[in-house]
Amino acid sequence: MEVKVIIAASLRTFTGRTPEVKVNAADVSEALNALTDEYPEAAKGLFDENHDLRDFVGIYLNDSDIRTLKGLNTKLSDGDELYLIPAIAGGACESVISTERMKEVSIGDKEIRRYNNHLQLKEISIKGQKRIMAGRVLVAGLGALGGVVAERLAAAGVGTIGLADAGDVTLEGLQVQTIHGTRDIDRPRAASAKDRLKKLNPLVNTITHQEKLSAENAEEIVAGYDIVVDATDSFVSRYLISDACVLCGKPDVFGAMYQFEGFVTVLGTKDGPCYRCLYPSPPPAGIVPSCAASGVMNALPGITGAMMAAEVLKLLTGSGEPLIGKAITLDAWNIRYHIVNTARDKGCPVCGADPSIHSAQDIDYEDLCGLRENPHEEPIEAIEPAELARRISDGEKITIIDVREPHERAIRRFPGTIAIPIGQLARRQKELDPDIDTIFICREGKRSILAIRTLREAGYEGPMYNLKGGFEAAAQIIFPNEGAWL
Ligand SMILES: [Zn+2]
Repeated sequence: MEVKVIIAASLRTFTGRTPEVKVNAADVSEALNALTDEYPEAAKGLFDENHDLRDFVGIYLNDSDIRTLKGLNTKLSDGDELYLIPAIAGGACESVISTERMKEVSIGDKEIRRYNNHLQLKEISIKGQKRIMAGRVLVAGLGALGGVVAERLAAAGVGTIGLADAGDVTLEGLQVQTIHGTRDIDRPRAASAKDRLKKLNPLVNTITHQEKLSAENAEEIVAGYDIVVDATDSFVSRYLISDACVLCGKPDVFGAMYQFEGFVTVLGTKDGPCYRCLYPSPPPAGIVPSCAASGVMNALPGITGAMMAAEVLKLLTGSGEPLIGKAITLDAWNIRYHIVNTARDKGCPVCGADPSIHSAQDIDYEDLCGLRENPHEEPIEAIEPAELARRISDGEKITIIDVREPHERAIRRFPGTIAIPIGQLARRQKELDPDIDTIFICREGKRSILAIRTLREAGYEGPMYNLKGGFEAAAQIIFPNEGAWL
């Protein structure tokens, strides 16, 4: 059977950036084997050391999750499409706002003028707009995506908007974040967002949460809202927010981005799945890069964030067809989109039939996401940028391997290094001298850890060190006078 395997953008590093592969296979397992025969690097992304499919990879056959079919044994027919979506992440709904709460809201002359666009839509009209005005929505993460959602919801007239973010506005974020301005650099993002929303619509009440969402405070914060928008950029916060939403009975409007590709779904509702149902465990730290580390096309947060805002409006008004039990991925550069069906996992430890997680405080989220040291794994030795600078200026005999991708090296070069992208390390290990120290660098010092693990697994036994904080931390120390890099 000839089938098409469509690969989500964040997995394409393993397939030489190929978005689609045609293979001949009788079932899903054979199709994946054909894919990894053609692209051996893909095996590392898809399978763990026991050759079991990694939990963070979702596989959809013609839009149905294969876990709702026969898993890897699901039979294929000519012309079928298999869609691989890693964690980057129907039907009409009932409003999350009760009729009593809607009735407490009144619409006067200034609201009629300001909200006239919605009032003219029969799907929203006065009752829907009142529900929007009665709504309390928490936006978690106020970067590019959360900023767009917050701006849309404020202009729409959502009564109370919670703004949760513990970070500050940076110059590096401004190309994709329109909620913050140049004058806001170094201000807390939550405070900057609050000012922007007040300017957009003074009728909206805003509450800032500048503390980091944690297992200790998440349920308490989430319980104060009707809907949570997850626009965060880490697996720790995604599992935490999803768990807190399920435990508090609140919908979780989830969005994620990678370069040109956006992903949106609604989680944590009565009938739909939660984040754990879709991705029972996170990818090993470093395999799927964050969007900050891999770049995002400027218009993508506008598109993806506006789709998330539309989901919030549907849930508040109880109208339209929300993305419950469905997820959309949109590749804005190549104009491809897919809507896939998602399903609740009956065995899910938080939203399944017999849940074992009853409080977020029971979970160590850092540990879940592989961010704590694994006591069984040999620790990886790190080297500080200042130490590396000293060793370079002393002329010590060391090898420096730059594992960044070619387009990243083109922005800022690190002279005197050997460039080997992660995917090629195992087969190019002959280029390393096991008798001298080898230091690995990447952009932020995370992928280089993965690089060292990869080489250890491949049997390399020479001394290996990770440059702490990566190129970002080292550039100022090692090349303080180089100025512009392009
Ligand atoms: Zn679940």
